[in-house]
Amino acid sequence: MSNNWHLETNCIQAGYTPKNGEPRMMPIVQSTTFKYDTSAGMGALFDLEADGYFYTRLANPTTDAVAAKIAALEGGTAALLTSSGQAANFFAVFNLCSAGDHLICSSTVYGGTFNLFAVTLKRMGIECTFVDPDCSDEELDAAFQPNTKLVFGESIANPALIILDIERFAKAAHAHGVPLIIDNTFPTPMNCKPFQWGADIVTHSTTKYLDGHDATVGGCIVDSGNFDWMAHADKFPGLTTPDESYHGVTYAERFGQGGAFITKCCAQLMRDLGCTPAPMNAYLLNMGIETLHVRMPRHCENAQKVAEFLQSHEKVTWVNYAGLPGNKYHELAQKYMPNGTCGVVSFGVKGGRAAAEQFMAGLKLCMIATHVADAHTCVLHPASSTHRQMTDAELVAAGVSPDLIRLSVGIENIDDILADLSAALENI
Ligand SMILES: *Cc1c(COP(=O)(O)O)cnc(C)c1O
Repeated sequence: MSNNWHLETNCIQAGYTPKNGEPRMMPIVQSTTFKYDTSAGMGALFDLEADGYFYTRLANPTTDAVAAKIAALEGGTAALLTSSGQAANFFAVFNLCSAGDHLICSSTVYGGTFNLFAVTLKRMGIECTFVDPDCSDEELDAAFQPNTKLVFGESIANPALIILDIERFAKAAHAHGVPLIIDNTFPTPMNCKPFQWGADIVTHSTTKYLDGHDATVGGCIVDSGNFDWMAHADKFPGLTTPDESYHGVTYAERFGQGGAFITKCCAQLMRDLGCTPAPMNAYLLNMGIETLHVRMPRHCENAQKVAEFLQSHEKVTWVNYAGLPGNKYHELAQKYMPNGTCGVVSFGVKGGRAAAEQFMAGLKLCMIATHVADAHTCVLHPASSTHRQMTDAELVAAGVSPDLIRLSVGIENIDDILADLSAALENI
């Protein structure tokens, strides 16, 4: 699916090319099922022997076209859309791990992912060791076990805004014969290309910048085609030995290094667990992606100006944004995301929890929402909303200071955003 076009062109053109007289815009194939002339013709599809569609839980032309576009943007060989980012991360891990297996994950990942790995996967017999993303090489090495099947991290952690040293984590994973999975939601393929740094599989919550308009919840899994399953056949029997539920097909043999992971993910996990996106949602996601290359630079430009404004404001105590030269992750950001990171900034105000609540009450343009990473500027004060049951001491222990405000900078006019922030700071 890789081609020689630039990212901007692929945002618009990749995934769907109309033939003579066909619609310019990818059609929404809003049909659960597909008609065949003979049952033998349909049987070949069930046996994975022919290409085509028979039931939208497994595959649909609209969702496939959008997946192909994201694969092209990441430089991957195959991709699968899912109904949410949570489903994408679950499928990516469960495609490789079974009861009795183990994975390693960065401790600062998104709360939903942390809970999935620490609680729900544990109930399925899969253990996770969480490592500090800034741990030493020795500590990372020591986290591996004989039954470790993968390493997982976020290119930019949501909401901690920590930049992962992808190359270092990829080297460690490969030294132990397992792949690195990177959740690339926050930078998007416009700003970070994890496959170039050794990541093997990329996931997305397409709900964020890829959609970009607060319109659809969705996810995506992309395979680089770079991990050699056969070279580690004993670790990954699901890919390298016959699947009895599919007439004995061995995915790594039949579909090769570039196709095995996604085909297995679709044929087994989508078939049995069914986290399928609606074709209509895939269509809306595609419209979002068409302008991703125009939106991301504006998000980063606006966020940089907001971060600089906040840093110089007397009522602000600290600002976390990797685009600021003094930030702990500035160098890693320069290496992995030279064009910018994302639009999310976090900061604290003088006066702690009470002052933060006064600040929030003074905002007009910046709207209070739990969401991040879309065109509209939105803001959250965890201590008075998502984490309100916690005391100040408990908040600090959870890595969320009582004064922390998370601001997702949108693509409105920067002067209007700054004026709103300025007025709300005066309100304290
Ligand atoms: C939002 C998010 C998710 C979860 O995605 P949903 O689409 O809400 O299910 C996973 N990872 C990251 C980094 C996120 O920001």
